[in-house]
Amino acid sequence: MESQESDICNAEEMDMLLSKLWLFPLFKTVDWSSVSVPLMNPTGELPARNEWQGEYFFDAKVDLTGVHKKHYVVSSKLNKLYVDMDKVVPFQIHWDGTPGLYVRALMMFTLADHMKNPVKRCITHKDKDNPMNTHYEHSEHVLATGNDNAEYNMDQQSKRYSVKVPLHLQQGCNYALVNYKFMCKTSCTGGLNRSPTDVIFTLEDAGGTVYGRQIIAVKICSCPKRDKEKDEANMAEPSGGKRKMKVKKEEKKLEPAMKKIKQEFNPNENGPVTFMVTCTNHEIAEMAKNHLRRWDEIKSVEWGAPGVPGVPAPPLLHITDDVAVLPQPYL
Ligand SMILES: [Zn+2]
Repeated sequence: MESQESDICNAEEMDMLLSKLWLFPLFKTVDWSSVSVPLMNPTGELPARNEWQGEYFFDAKVDLTGVHKKHYVVSSKLNKLYVDMDKVVPFQIHWDGTPGLYVRALMMFTLADHMKNPVKRCITHKDKDNPMNTHYEHSEHVLATGNDNAEYNMDQQSKRYSVKVPLHLQQGCNYALVNYKFMCKTSCTGGLNRSPTDVIFTLEDAGGTVYGRQIIAVKICSCPKRDKEKDEANMAEPSGGKRKMKVKKEEKKLEPAMKKIKQEFNPNENGPVTFMVTCTNHEIAEMAKNHLRRWDEIKSVEWGAPGVPGVPAPPLLHITDDVAVLPQPYL
């Protein structure tokens, strides 16, 4: 038993080991403990905030490809978007391409004391005579989208505002681009009131059932680059930085779904990669295997015959009760 104990990694060590594996993006963002979470109202009194890729491999991230814009920047250290008011920010919405799904974006205050309050626009910016609203009729919604088929919602109970966009993949692209704009500033008195906010993206079907969730902090300000540098510098200082790290560690301790990983993996060799993940129980192990199988199906089609749909590649993974064997990536 002692030798098994010595193999147990903490969450950070596990992250480090997984980061060396090709499948890291798959594992990193899957919140295994939430896979069987009961359905919750994404616009309710306290919407869930855990990130969860779910069965459709959902992800939402700012599109930074080929961008040299000054009006928005992203801090990967803080998982935070800094953006100027009333300027377009494109987001890449990733999922497995299943039709009939939607992405909902909802802003929420980050601090516990403010979380229950809906995020809405300040009096100045929602004024009908404000030039910002000449072509914008959703006067209370801070978060706007350029998508013509968007539905703007206000939850009658929680009074939260959100916007929902139907998702379609374009040929040859494995994500949908959705443009968003923020129609107030973080500093607006009577609106965001300098209180930090997050945007919560949920993958939903037409009936509002949630299949995935992603979250990014957002600050709406006049000098995104300057504010980002300032926040990152504050984070590096002992008082601010330590507090954040401590919170992160505590969050990780709550969800030690997979405790042990062994790998037999030499990145310099062209051969299959074998690794073993030990889960805390059979249920989580089954979920992990199902995710791998689903991933295999998707990638087999995606990589099978470029440009020729419906011709899958041979299975990429060999999964047994104990092991999953991966070939080297051929990207
Ligand atoms: Zn405002």
